[in-house]
Parts: sequence; C-alpha cells; structure tokens
Amino acid sequence: MALTKILGKRKKIALVAHDHKKADLMEWALHNQTALAKHELFATGTTGKLLEEALDRPVKKLLSGPLGGDQQIGAMIANGEIDMMFFFWDPMEAQPHDSDVRALLRLCVAWNIPMACDRATADFIMTSPFMHDEYVSAIPNYDHYLNRKIKDE
Ligand code: PGA
Repeated sequence: MALTKILGKRKKIALVAHDHKKADLMEWALHNQTALAKHELFATGTTGKLLEEALDRPVKKLLSGPLGGDQQIGAMIANGEIDMMFFFWDPMEAQPHDSDVRALLRLCVAWNIPMACDRATADFIMTSPFMHDEYVSAIPNYDHYLNRKIKDE
C-alpha cells in the first residue's frame, strides 16, 4: 500500500545558504517575499537571522549549520516536519561540515522532499501550482529495508 502525506497550503520551508551564497538567497527571498509570506520558514542560524532582517518577519532559527543546524533540519525532515528545502550550497568552497551537508541532501532524497539548490530550481518550485494548494506527497516505503534479514536463521 502506498504511503502518502498531505502537504497543506501553508508549507513548512527550510532555507539554508552557505556563506558565499547567502547574498543570492537573500535576494531571491526578497524577490519572493509575498509568496513566502504564505508559508512557515525554518532556517539554520545565520541564514535565519539574515532572512528575518531581509524579510522583516519571524523565521524559526535552528543552530548554525556547522554547529548542528544541518542535522537539526535533517532530523525534522526524517520526522515529517519539513515540506521542502531551499539549500543554496557553495560548489566552489569546501565546508568544515561537509558530512552534515551530504547527510542533509541525502535525507531530502530519502524522504521525497522537493529541494532547490540553485536559483533556477527555486524559481520553478516557487511558481508551481502546488505551492498554493494541497499536495499529496508519496512517502517512500522502507518496509523491505526495515524487515531485511539480518542474520541466517
Ligand atoms: P548558517 O549555516 O546559516 O548558520 O550559516 C549554513 C550552513 O549549513 O552552512
């Protein structure tokens, strides 16, 4: 049986940007201020602080990414508490928390979470009709994994 969940009209959106991508994300967020106002925003610490200033609205701030914020968002995704993610990561600079970054990207795919890592994809997601409506999202079924044979009987 297929598992699904309904994403409501008011989406729970996670936003993260690496340092050299923060200006890009702020510009994009400002450009989409009206559309974003309809949704609930979550962000890693520094990104969230900048978003609050840029958009003049509250953002639920987690820890700074390298201090555990990426993992906090990953845990929220695994718990079904985040509907989509805009993560402007920097392809030109190594990050001290690269393992956390990869874990977060992996969990988005593992849990079928729409994810934009660049402005063009972010624009396509934000202009999707699903942003204004409910969306029936498939939850991947991991029963085969959970019930896998661990040892010979
Ligand atoms: P920051 O974290 O928003 O606290 O800078 C972003 C990141 O994950 O690097």
